[in-house]
Amino acid sequence: MALFVGLDIGGTKLMVAAADREGDILRRVRTDTTTSLETDLANLNSMIAEVSAGEQIQGMGAAIGGPLDWEQGIVSPLHQPAWRDVPLKAIMEARWNCPFSVDVDTNVAALGEYRWGGGSLKRFLYLTLSTGMGGGFLVDGKIYRGQGGAHPEVGHQSIPFRCSNPPAVQCECGAPDCLEALVSGNGIRRIYGKPAENLDAEEWEEVAYNLGQGLRNMAALYTPDVIRIGGGVAVGGGERFIGRAREIMESHLRLVPVPQVGLSHLGYDTALRGAIAITLSQ
Ligand SMILES: [Zn+2]
Repeated sequence: MALFVGLDIGGTKLMVAAADREGDILRRVRTDTTTSLETDLANLNSMIAEVSAGEQIQGMGAAIGGPLDWEQGIVSPLHQPAWRDVPLKAIMEARWNCPFSVDVDTNVAALGEYRWGGGSLKRFLYLTLSTGMGGGFLVDGKIYRGQGGAHPEVGHQSIPFRCSNPPAVQCECGAPDCLEALVSGNGIRRIYGKPAENLDAEEWEEVAYNLGQGLRNMAALYTPDVIRIGGGVAVGGGERFIGRAREIMESHLRLVPVPQVGLSHLGYDTALRGAIAITLSQ
């Protein structure tokens, strides 16, 4: 049987799954990410060995934080300081003797949600709202890429925001007033002094307002058919939070059609399922 492997290499956890040609997951394992590149690579290799169970792997795909060179497969995920200029494609192809593809986690998640989350409309924007914030934009199922292959950074747009503690709005990228600094897990922690799951109703309302302003900009610039939102903050805030953000977007949007906006259908598996999608489509 043809066997394909997907890797979700995140800042807090590593997930590996084996799937069949239809992308149905056969076996999966996970472990925590460490602060050592050698340990992480050794863990990934033993997890791949475990899920592949001795069968030849036909193809492997991976999701990881940017920045990266997706053509060369060289990765330097911002939130994993031990991983700098790692030739992941060369390492994995030599070790496992199969084609290997890697892309920015939000692009990969967008592909997973598009293929298996019922989001297969022409212009599809996927957003991840977790520790940080990012997105992937697909046109006819293909990743939209910017100049020189650059990945668009939707979290680093500025917006007119509401905030009960404005001096605490500081983006990790160094620019002022970024959306990510207001609605991501790290941003919320900085502003409200607690994790998203502990926000009260009034604080959620602020975060929803700010996300809605970001959605409005993205809807006006990309005119997508659908915006699907995943990641821990979005899933934690739930339908009510996303619904409120959608209302703010709609009430500020003019001249362009209003996109469908909803929570991810694949929950925490979007990047892992997407990693399988990219290897099946290569
Ligand atoms: Zn920023």
